[in-house]
Amino acid sequence: MAAATLTTLEALEESGFVKDDDRAALEAVAARYAVAVSPDMAALIDPDDLDDPIARQFIPQSAELVILPDERADPIGDHAHSPVEGIVHRYPDRVLLKAVHVCPVYCRFCFRREMVGPKGDGTLSGAALDAAFAYIAAHPEIWEVILTGGDPFVLSPRRLADLMRRLAAIDHVRIVRFHTRVPVVEPARIDTALVAALKESGKTVYVALHANHPRELTPEARAAIGRLANGGVTLVSQSVLLKGVNDDPQVLAALMRGFVEARVTPYYLHHPDLAPGTSHFRLTIEEGQALVASLRGHLSGLCQPTYVLDLPGGHGKAVVAASSVQDDGEGGYRIMDFRGQVHAYPPRGD
Ligand code: SF4
Repeated sequence: MAAATLTTLEALEESGFVKDDDRAALEAVAARYAVAVSPDMAALIDPDDLDDPIARQFIPQSAELVILPDERADPIGDHAHSPVEGIVHRYPDRVLLKAVHVCPVYCRFCFRREMVGPKGDGTLSGAALDAAFAYIAAHPEIWEVILTGGDPFVLSPRRLADLMRRLAAIDHVRIVRFHTRVPVVEPARIDTALVAALKESGKTVYVALHANHPRELTPEARAAIGRLANGGVTLVSQSVLLKGVNDDPQVLAALMRGFVEARVTPYYLHHPDLAPGTSHFRLTIEEGQALVASLRGHLSGLCQPTYVLDLPGGHGKAVVAASSVQDDGEGGYRIMDFRGQVHAYPPRGD
């Protein structure tokens, strides 16, 4: 395994991971968007496989310079709902708290790619953090605080414990959720000190784990997830449906089963956002609906994520799975089963 995170084109080339031969374009991509491949993810990449699904998620490609008119720097509209720095208050009962904008890896399809990285929005200053906590304290409707970023698990256990103690002092906050890729991309970070820090608030703690391919659920990742679960944390999954990574019924099924086996409940499968330079990852919604439908019935009910799209402009999430229910125009319905057969509901003529 590589000893250090790979953060330059040269380091990626030395590892044999760069297949795109447009060097000038790759330099432009790396100058614009942060690059990082953690040792655990580098160890998973097969340098001989041109279509390696792990490499596709982390190795820059010249296609990232293709910016389509519909793409936007803030695809899900964080800024439209940010009353103070570091807070996004899009839905009534919850806020995002973006304390940090660095990640242990940089995903090439990231929806916040213009905000994260060494040149991104940075870490909140002490004064900005004070203002963010004052906002949460002043809004009793905030039931849940979601720490995201960036990846909040890059913070030291000492700083995480400090954040949790500050949340403990706000009675109306009952749930603290972390959005993270760390248990998969840097599992050794999930140690006793980090798990203990999560308990400092006395609140119910959820972790939404981001992983996109079953190979990411290595024995080390499963052990890290186990440490969180044994520490009293409830885990749910988040994945992005990505062309060339998981746009295959069997891959998607293996990913969802892998989550459930590791004690992570499938939660969201995101349609890729309109982030700049990411069109090579996007499928059509119809293709996504067919993939999600392929899971239904064939896989345990525990393995069914909700297929969602974040509406551009900050209008929030919408479920985009195909409906299996149609009005029959006669006071009843036509409902399709998982084999594609249509049934009248209520049954007629039985
Ligand atoms: S870990 Fe999350 S925030 Fe960081 S680059 Fe990947 S998708 Fe973006």
